[in-house]
Amino acid sequence: MSTPTDHEALRTALGPYVLGDLPADEVPALEAHLDGCAACTAELAALTPVAAALGGLRGTRPALPQPPPDLADRVGAAVAADARRGAPGSGLARRAGTLLVAAAVGAALTLGVTRLVTDPAAPVVPVEAVPVAVGAPGLVASAGLVPHTWGVEVKLTASGFTAGDRYRVVVLGPDGAAFPAGEFVGTGERTMRCNLNSSVLRERASGFEVLGDDGRVLVRSAFPRA
Ligand SMILES: [Zn+2]
Repeated sequence: MSTPTDHEALRTALGPYVLGDLPADEVPALEAHLDGCAACTAELAALTPVAAALGGLRGTRPALPQPPPDLADRVGAAVAADARRGAPGSGLARRAGTLLVAAAVGAALTLGVTRLVTDPAAPVVPVEAVPVAVGAPGLVASAGLVPHTWGVEVKLTASGFTAGDRYRVVVLGPDGAAFPAGEFVGTGERTMRCNLNSSVLRERASGFEVLGDDGRVLVRSAFPRA
């Protein structure tokens, strides 16, 4: 079992540990302590995702704001030095080290969010193009499908629907039954893009239709079999 002193000293090693900067010979003691210390385990759980975000930013994308390249080293060194001073009375220095870790964590959070928003390599939702036939002059339409766990989404790009008029979209099931997928308002000659969500799963969806308010089918698509 650890003594409270072990706990204090080892806790300050959590910062460099999650950053991968803890000297290898200090790792076993910390991991053994983590097995029995709920407080340190909880702190580790809070630090880990943030450290992962910080690690993911190191030297990857020059276009994005970067943390100083030596940030992790400085944090690790400060915390490690603080831990080594672990004599009674060093509480202030230890807290300063903790603050430095907190500052690094804050920087990593900010950069992590920036990266999530701007990362051009973020996974792109797969869109399946489907054939579209229009049934009225002046209409132009194309569409793609996104298969979700809860149903298929139709991404419709179109122009030529009378501005201000309301149109209904249905997704067709395997037996031709129509399931509501939402409505849109026409935009005339201006191109509109709308996402229409249905509860029909992709493998059961056989097509979609856009209906005018008189019930006439204006756009029809037959999906390839999934
Ligand atoms: Zn502990």
